Amino acid sequence: MGRPRLPGLTQFGNQRTPTHDTLASPLRAAQVMNYGFVIDNRSCIGCHACSTACKSENSVPLGVNRTWVKYTEAGRYPDVRRHFQVTRCNHCEKPPCVAICPVSAMIQHEDGIVGFNGDSCIGCKACLQACPYDAIYIDPDSGTAAKCHYCGHRVEVGLEPACVVVCPTHSIIAGDLDDPESEISRVRAAHETTVRKPEQNTLPNVFYVEGEQVNLDPTLTQRQPAGMMWSEVVPIHDTAGPIQWDNVSQAEHMVQVAYNAQHKVPWHWQVPAYMLTKSVGAGLWLLLGLAALLGTVSHHTLVVAGLVGLVSIGITTVLLVADLERPERFHWILLRPQWRSWLTRGAFILMGFSTLTGIWWVAEAFMGGAPAVPVLAGLTIPLAIGTAIYTAFLFAQAEGRDLWQSRLLGPHLLVQAVLAGSAAWLVMATLDSSLSLGLPMETVFAVALGVDLLLCFLDICLLPHPTREGRIAARDIFAGRYRHHFWGGSVMLGHLVPAVLLLVGGQALVVASVATLIGLYCYEHAYVYAPQDIPNS
Ligand code: SF4
Repeated sequence: MGRPRLPGLTQFGNQRTPTHDTLASPLRAAQVMNYGFVIDNRSCIGCHACSTACKSENSVPLGVNRTWVKYTEAGRYPDVRRHFQVTRCNHCEKPPCVAICPVSAMIQHEDGIVGFNGDSCIGCKACLQACPYDAIYIDPDSGTAAKCHYCGHRVEVGLEPACVVVCPTHSIIAGDLDDPESEISRVRAAHETTVRKPEQNTLPNVFYVEGEQVNLDPTLTQRQPAGMMWSEVVPIHDTAGPIQWDNVSQAEHMVQVAYNAQHKVPWHWQVPAYMLTKSVGAGLWLLLGLAALLGTVSHHTLVVAGLVGLVSIGITTVLLVADLERPERFHWILLRPQWRSWLTRGAFILMGFSTLTGIWWVAEAFMGGAPAVPVLAGLTIPLAIGTAIYTAFLFAQAEGRDLWQSRLLGPHLLVQAVLAGSAAWLVMATLDSSLSLGLPMETVFAVALGVDLLLCFLDICLLPHPTREGRIAARDIFAGRYRHHFWGGSVMLGHLVPAVLLLVGGQALVVASVATLIGLYCYEHAYVYAPQDIPNS
């Protein structure tokens, strides 16, 4: 049963009506507004009245927050201070959460408010990956995304957001940033203000007077300590930032997050598993398409290897749907597509690829051969490449994860597809000697193995990462909590062991191929999880 909502809030508490921007109100003059917040840290007393008023106004469940007050303690003993930061959606001028949403559930209104429509949301959690500020959560009752919507239902009837009204020190100022006479504009004009993560280029519309760097930049403090305010953990960090710590100095100079909320890991094992099965399916059909164009593939090979490729793509689709919070709404991506989203584009590429290869395979298996094979092969090859690499564009839209912004990711995914496809092929061809692609598959496998290893090192260890978040995630992979996945799983099991077994040949090729596939999963696991571990708030 869903959680009870306050009377009158049902249509606004979790969504805003499409007519929102046309409603007149005292706060909304005839001209288009540009709403934002100024948070005046000079007067905030960290009372959490705003957090609780927001919870009450919007029926926000326990464990998730639309706004909260982050506490960070910093200083040199005995001069230590606690800094407060009211933290929430920035109603960005360039909101990446809107661009990545496949079904237009995240909406940027004309008046600058970034709202959402829970009734459209499929729970893919892509917006959580795109937001560089941890502003979005999944509502545990509805399984849909939610966040601060500027109390749109109140603004529409001329009221200020609940947090503004309840604040006892008037530290939260809401209003039209484009009106020079508004209070918010006057405060901005009179004081220097800062925003969170300006380097993300999202153009936030929440401005802080006397914003503290230790609060604004979550990488200056350690990951969320388990016990928070009364924890005995001394969460000191960082090796790359301006605040340096060691065992001697930490008692004198500290930075400690005493209270924070919201950071979660949205994507789990299904995503690295989907990347692996997608690579196998795309890689196998890429090789089959090439061999068909060259006229070197047999009917029997197309039926057997094609079936393995189709099953892999089928598993890929199941994993994608399984990772949704609202899997029964999966088809909405196809029925209500938002075309700027690479989740949408990827779904259509995947659907086109599986439809085409499925038709080809049925013709081969049940009609004794497909007509117009060169045409089928000519269409299959670009679709297989698209299937392999579209995830790089999706990850690039996930602007909250800096490690994924790599330009190498597209080529790397293509190499992984060739590697996974050739590995799967070698297992089949070793077990069934009647299969033949007419291609030098051991050479293809060996080259892909070497190039993939090189790209792993380039992406993680060798090329510089422009942001601190990217550096921390990469360091976590090669020297931190994911080092066993990287060195043991990917480098050793996934590359070096197969390289040696390749020299042995024969049945050892089966072991080499299976080891490669396990190694690929280990790499994807580290690559998907490490950036998500880093808090964005
Ligand atoms: Fe708000 Fe984050 Fe979207 Fe920016 S990216 S509008 S902070 S939810």
